[in-house]
Amino acid sequence: MVKLVDVRKSFGDNEVLKGINLEIESGEVVCIIGASGSGKSTMLRCLNHLERITDGEVYIQGELTDKREKNKDLMKIDPVKVQALCAELGMVFQNFNLFPHLTVIQNITVAPTIVKKVDKAVIEKTALDLLEMVGLSDKKDEYPSRLSGGQQQRVAIARALAMEPMIMMFDEPTSALDPELVGEVLATMRKLAEEGMTMIIVTHEIGFAREVADRVIFMDEGVICEQGTPEEVLLNPKEERTKIFLNKIL
Ligand code: ADP
Ligand code: MG
Repeated sequence: MVKLVDVRKSFGDNEVLKGINLEIESGEVVCIIGASGSGKSTMLRCLNHLERITDGEVYIQGELTDKREKNKDLMKIDPVKVQALCAELGMVFQNFNLFPHLTVIQNITVAPTIVKKVDKAVIEKTALDLLEMVGLSDKKDEYPSRLSGGQQQRVAIARALAMEPMIMMFDEPTSALDPELVGEVLATMRKLAEEGMTMIIVTHEIGFAREVADRVIFMDEGVICEQGTPEEVLLNPKEERTKIFLNKIL
């Protein structure tokens, strides 16, 4: 569904992705772990073109969407096509990023209405179904500031799903939450995983990763240091750097 080939990304002299090869299959749930600054967010942002890569290739649904060598474009990118493919990648951020001046239901319906030109009655029905799925039917007319962090994050998940993405990407979705609110967001994500959604999740919730992930990837200093099943990576890590990281957070 998405593929990175030898992807490098630098900010000035700072090379933060140093040759990433990654392929995600349909229906896979992949959890990405690694220390702060190891390049996890940058990798997600390169996948959905929030960042341009410096070197390598990006594929979305089998289509080459970016190919560069030492910052030089090697292909003509049709921006309309790339935008459409990127819309297949839903993204949920650490800090929810809801529109503060829109109600819950407006937050969910605005992008499908404007970007995808979905009929208003149709998307409102979809939004209500999604709010039911995330357990917030009674909050549809509230403003984000009146919701808890866990509720805001569940709205953010519903909002991303309203675009009917092929893949959902989560960048530390529970890191900004008070501990007692983490569980409700993880439960929503677990439900999505059970429904067969393809998911890429950057998380420090090792228990969740163990239970839900098909594959765990450990990133360190801009490379994929180790990957495998949760048992392999989390319980029997081979690499010294993985062991040190897990010892620090567990
Ligand atoms: P992680 O998500 O694993 O914590 P990031 O991908 O956010 O790591 O960051 C990796 C490195 O890239 C860090 O050193 C960070 O400072 C740097 N970085 C990320 N985004 C930018 C940016 N827009 N400009 C400059 N440096 C950046
Ligand atoms: Mg990050």
